[in-house]
Amino acid sequence: MSLTKKEIVALLSDDANEQELFKRADDVRRKNVGDEIHLRGLIEFSNICRNNCLYCGIRRDNKKVCRYRLSEEELIKTARQGADMGFKTIVMQSGEDMYFTAERLCRIISAIKKFDVAITLSIGERSYDEYKAFREAGADRYLMRIETTDKELYHRLDPQMSWQHRYECLLMIKELGYELGSGIMVGLPGQTLESIANDLLFLQDLEIDMAGIGPFIPHPDTPLAGESGGSLSLALRTMAVMRIMLPDINIPATTAMESLHPNGRIMALQAGANVVMPNITEEEYRSFYALYPGKAGADDTPANSRSRLAQKIINLGRTIGTGYGSHIKKSLIDK
Ligand code: SAM
Repeated sequence: MSLTKKEIVALLSDDANEQELFKRADDVRRKNVGDEIHLRGLIEFSNICRNNCLYCGIRRDNKKVCRYRLSEEELIKTARQGADMGFKTIVMQSGEDMYFTAERLCRIISAIKKFDVAITLSIGERSYDEYKAFREAGADRYLMRIETTDKELYHRLDPQMSWQHRYECLLMIKELGYELGSGIMVGLPGQTLESIANDLLFLQDLEIDMAGIGPFIPHPDTPLAGESGGSLSLALRTMAVMRIMLPDINIPATTAMESLHPNGRIMALQAGANVVMPNITEEEYRSFYALYPGKAGADDTPANSRSRLAQKIINLGRTIGTGYGSHIKKSLIDK
């Protein structure tokens, strides 16, 4: 559905009526993507990063982080365990760790593909040739948040990076036929509701297949330690408006939402979300992938977090998706 910038700002600012907004987004979700919740097994395979984003706990200059990377064998083994647990999508996320060359990653992707899963990559900015090689090796989806469309804010927060380049990467990924996931953080220092409305319009124009929207949570060992961070309420409202604007896409209930409230992901699933990405990284590494403090599930086992989540989903009267959970465009079904 198209909304004007003014209408979006009005919805984002109306905290008194947010329950109505959530109900509306939940109805749109049910009508367009149904009651299935797709679970994706998330492997955080390296916290080594060449970038220095001011908000991020694994930024290059944070010397307090214990750095790790999984070996090729560990990564493939973790993916196999995920597939054995029933996950039909494996999400491979990391910092921008160049140890993982295209050749190495293609080997890993081809090996994981044998487990009959869809593969989502979330490894940041790479060249066209690398994106092409990953796609040819079997990667199906790519997740890369634009973070904000306010270029001035982006460059303030990611000083050595280029907004334009990140945007061009998103276009390359799309052109190569990946399902494209993008998204933003809500509550960044200096971000306005108008700016969030621009972000939502940008994501709609880009015709993304997946939108990840999460609150910014200040990390104590970053330059943004003293900032106030985003509220769960505004993040949920932003996500709900996204659902209304892009009715048939996949929208995850993000870990950052759960980190602000013990029931944050369940609240999100009742306000437009239809995807959850439980962490299946081995426990010994989990606490080191600390993008922000209090990250939900950091001390849980993969099997435990999956079964507790499954129970919560059943309690909501929803079902767990049994397929790959790809984005199915409503316009294609209706034709
Ligand atoms: N390197 C890849 C990339 O750039 O897309 C993937 C890893 S990156 C750490 C994943 C996401 O974490 C970012 O896109 C950002 O939105 C989110 N993130 C990082 N620091 C955060 C914070 N302090 N609060 C909330 N989300 C954060």
